[in-house]
Amino acid sequence: MSLTERDQKVIWHPYTQMKNALPHIPVVRGEGVYLFDEDGKKYIDAVSSWWVNIHGHAHPHIAKKVAEQLSVLEHVIFAGFTHEPAVQLAERLLELLPGDQEKVFYTDNGSTSVEVALKMCLQYWSNTGHKGRTRIIAFKEAYHGDTFGAMSVSGRSIFTDPFKSMLFEVEFIDLPTEKNIEQLKSKINYLSNEVACFIFEPMVLGAGGMLMYEAEYLDQLIETCQKHGILTIADEVMTGFGRTGTYFACETLHSKPDIFCLSKGLTGGTMPLGVTTCNQKIFDAFLSDDKLKTLYHGHSFTANPVACAASLASLDILLSAETLPNIQRIKRKNEAFATQIKEHPKVRDVRQKGTILVLEWETGNDTSYLSSLRNQLYLYFLERGIILRPLGNTIYILPPYIISDEDLDYIYQTIQQALNDI
Ligand SMILES: *Cc1c(COP(=O)(O)O)cnc(C)c1O
Repeated sequence: MSLTERDQKVIWHPYTQMKNALPHIPVVRGEGVYLFDEDGKKYIDAVSSWWVNIHGHAHPHIAKKVAEQLSVLEHVIFAGFTHEPAVQLAERLLELLPGDQEKVFYTDNGSTSVEVALKMCLQYWSNTGHKGRTRIIAFKEAYHGDTFGAMSVSGRSIFTDPFKSMLFEVEFIDLPTEKNIEQLKSKINYLSNEVACFIFEPMVLGAGGMLMYEAEYLDQLIETCQKHGILTIADEVMTGFGRTGTYFACETLHSKPDIFCLSKGLTGGTMPLGVTTCNQKIFDAFLSDDKLKTLYHGHSFTANPVACAASLASLDILLSAETLPNIQRIKRKNEAFATQIKEHPKVRDVRQKGTILVLEWETGNDTSYLSSLRNQLYLYFLERGIILRPLGNTIYILPPYIISDEDLDYIYQTIQQALNDI
């Protein structure tokens, strides 16, 4: 039996209707921006393997540091014990994050980093004697993960529909624009005394359709929250570590969120790790002789030393002299390509931010076309050796920063060809 056939017998894949799933491609090796299948076919990983890989596959520096750590200390319980990689990573992250972040809490993925952020905010208010502040504000099209708390603060969609009666209530708001910003601020002012926190993806909403909005309006929303003491959570799970052109998207804000959620690019896409950071104000609200004020949260693999070592190695590369210029290079090329195709009749919208380029396909009113278009686009690029994962009629590229100009040009040419063929 082939690997694909053995897979079919025993594996249940994520986000996949298994009844009519396309055969899963057996990947045997990765190198730089490329993945290779069993037959030796080469693919450009234009979505960074679900947005996690920032420096390319099987990076020698990360591989070396991970291997070294494995033979020194693979794991240790993180309650009552600590270790060098966890402390050093916290020191380096706090140095790099914008604002006044002071403490790092480790988990093992993006969803759990969001769960911890929500718990920190809700318990902050109960610890400080404001038990009525339990409401949460989030964007209507947000995506914050797949565990129940993270699902609750994500937009209601087909992903969350089977669980909708079990999800806690959230005050959803529209993405801010010049037109609605005053209205959004009034809503926050009106709800203020009952609100614990506002959670947001800064400037780019990922799984919700790669939607973008202006930093200026996020600043205004955060400032309005802060006027009322409402805590703010920046979910930088996708935007962190250079993706939008700066190390963190929030660097371009004037205001300072209270909490950051990080994962995905944190380990360079090598292994799972999540981080929730907070400022001193939040941390101090949990210091007490009363045991009930403790943050009772933890995972078996909290601050796994090997994952921390991978993250330290990934930070070395991120902060090296080549990386920001690479990010700027991708950004400039994306901008030029966006300008070139924006008038194409099949392009409904094209937008870009940093290394992310997004193109919405014109579908008219034909819904049957829309439902088949996604798979058609996916297969079109796959056949031409490019991995893209369209979100409905939206295709996007979000590549590792080491992608070459030639590979970018090949992707652009293929998109242009698809616009003519499909
Ligand atoms: C992917 C993502 C998450 C969830 O992270 P997982 O590691 O998949 O659980 C949360 N927030 C944002 C913005 C994401 O893009």
